[in-house]
Amino acid sequence: MIIVMRRGAPPEQVEAVRQRILAMGFKAHLSQGEEQTLLGVIGDERRLSAGVFEILPGVEKILPILKPFRMASRDFHPSDTVVQVGAERVGAKGVAVMAGPCAVESYEQTLAIAQAVKASGVRILRGGAYKPRTSPYAFQGLGPKGLEILSAVRKELDLKIVTEVLTPSDVELVCRHADLLQVGARNMQNFTLLAELGKASKPVLLKRGMMSTLEELLMSAEYVLSNGNPHVILCERGIRTFERYTRNTLDLSAVPLLKKLSHLPVIVDPSHATGVKDLVGPMSLAALAAGADGLLIDVHHLPEQALCDGAQALLPADFADLVGKLKGVATAVGRTL
Ligand code: PEP
Ligand code: MN
Repeated sequence: MIIVMRRGAPPEQVEAVRQRILAMGFKAHLSQGEEQTLLGVIGDERRLSAGVFEILPGVEKILPILKPFRMASRDFHPSDTVVQVGAERVGAKGVAVMAGPCAVESYEQTLAIAQAVKASGVRILRGGAYKPRTSPYAFQGLGPKGLEILSAVRKELDLKIVTEVLTPSDVELVCRHADLLQVGARNMQNFTLLAELGKASKPVLLKRGMMSTLEELLMSAEYVLSNGNPHVILCERGIRTFERYTRNTLDLSAVPLLKKLSHLPVIVDPSHATGVKDLVGPMSLAALAAGADGLLIDVHHLPEQALCDGAQALLPADFADLVGKLKGVATAVGRTL
């Protein structure tokens, strides 16, 4: 980091800051300009809190140099990371389409939707057993029973499962039923959960918080990576803005930006991003065009009876149509589906 001293800060104040830098185990580089004095702090500044210097007399501001994330950054790992979920290699040339109901409601419902999406070529089934709902009175998911249903359908149809884990103490249980552990938008900064997932044996799908910056998302990924799990997929799922015609505003610029800042695969959830089924197709096509490594799409065979998010679910036939169109875009951007 660079410490900018106030104009006319006396030499004693500059020296006090320099001594403070040295006392903290860093090297100091003094640059005495005609108008202002700068002090460079040499060493890994991520260990430092800017506040330590900000409060010293004569200091005007602190300019960080390094990105606060390390293991998630492209600088640390220049080539693309590929996360393996069964036969699907997320982050490689093939685009991974994950689809299924928002929530697991019953064995019959999950099986029917799973069969439909499998017929369209999907190999990773989505479905929440634990649902983080805004209202405590809304359907909260079937919990362990939902996990059993997912396991049964996984076995029956030879699909892989992505499902959300809400609590650190559930990680082990969810690992037994899932192939990819989803962290929902509301839990993106549940650091205890992220640390626990760092020790998990399964890859992690980390969704962007609805009010989180990309830097915060990458810092959350850093929690999982630095705790020992290198298999992290990032997911853009819309952020909250003033717009009310959509549930959230899909931030598609996040895709190329995240791919530039990080080596981790990036997928898009156009269903939760828009909340409107008619927008899911166009946003899926746009996501692929923008470089997304995959999609997470809500599909329901009886959306009017869905216990959760029916308004954004595609009918299986519409989903099949969309997959056809996605193939065209994938080819156009040099990828496969
Ligand atoms: C979900 O995918 O089921 C979900 C709850 O999404 P989000 O966390 O993005 O709201
Ligand atoms: Mn949902």
